[in-house]
Amino acid sequence: MKLTILGCYSATPRNLNNPTAQVLEIKNHLFSIDCGEGTQLQLRKMKIKFSRIKHIFISHLHGDHFFGLPGLVSTFRLLGREQELHIYGPKGIKEAITLLLKLGDSWTNYPLIFHELTSTTSQTIFEDDKVSVKTIPLHHRVYTNGFLFQEKSSERTLNIEAVSKLQIDKNQYNNIKKGQAVTLENGTVIPNEKITFDPAKPKSYAFCSDTAYKEEIVSIIAGTDLLYHESTFLETEKHLCAKTKHATAKEAATIAKKANVGKLILGHYSTRYKSLELFREEAKTVFENVELAEDGKSFLA
Ligand SMILES: [Zn+2]
Repeated sequence: MKLTILGCYSATPRNLNNPTAQVLEIKNHLFSIDCGEGTQLQLRKMKIKFSRIKHIFISHLHGDHFFGLPGLVSTFRLLGREQELHIYGPKGIKEAITLLLKLGDSWTNYPLIFHELTSTTSQTIFEDDKVSVKTIPLHHRVYTNGFLFQEKSSERTLNIEAVSKLQIDKNQYNNIKKGQAVTLENGTVIPNEKITFDPAKPKSYAFCSDTAYKEEIVSIIAGTDLLYHESTFLETEKHLCAKTKHATAKEAATIAKKANVGKLILGHYSTRYKSLELFREEAKTVFENVELAEDGKSFLA
């Protein structure tokens, strides 16, 4: 699983600071998460193939999280895209995007499928045999969801040496990978763990931006390998959190600690601060494994 940060600052785009956008590679999917202005340029800079994007997840309709979307949708058309594009986001996103396309007489030549979200409890919005995506209802000034991306546990891996030695019929391999034992012709039962290896532990990533401190999300994201939690402010500006419905680095770290995640990634920094290290220092007083999101940086799990 690989997370790439295309942009991680709040509010306005600047020379070196892009608003929120990420891509997540997980089990051969390339999921696009939020789409601030400049997302296309960042995709090009990072040499990420546009055609690999089939699903775009938008947390909320503040400009710094989705003003890059109309441009990206239009570019797909100019690139001659034919495959479906799925967009998941708050109710209203379909109207916003389709109005722009209609006014510009630039309707897409590919199927554009909207999945509008209204639920205030966590729900599964995408699922196939390898991955699921659930919403994480957040607390912000407008309706907002984070997203939890989870690999499904894979099948057990065949111990080829062991099955060959026992001359087990290949027709049985699928059942063995599902965990079944095997009975040989002489009646001997071979336990599954003697002929398979454990599958890799399924990975997970939780994206939580934008939100005020919301402890209710802990049960949804518990045990996640990677957690991106916004930290717009430091504790010295905590008074601004109540008004703007954002969180501090310390609050993000408290969520990470309570949810017992593997690693916390901070982001959505207010551009008022001179050094990002201040965010890391503040979070580390509560949770040890903290990293700073930076535009262009990748995280593996
Ligand atoms: Zn916002």
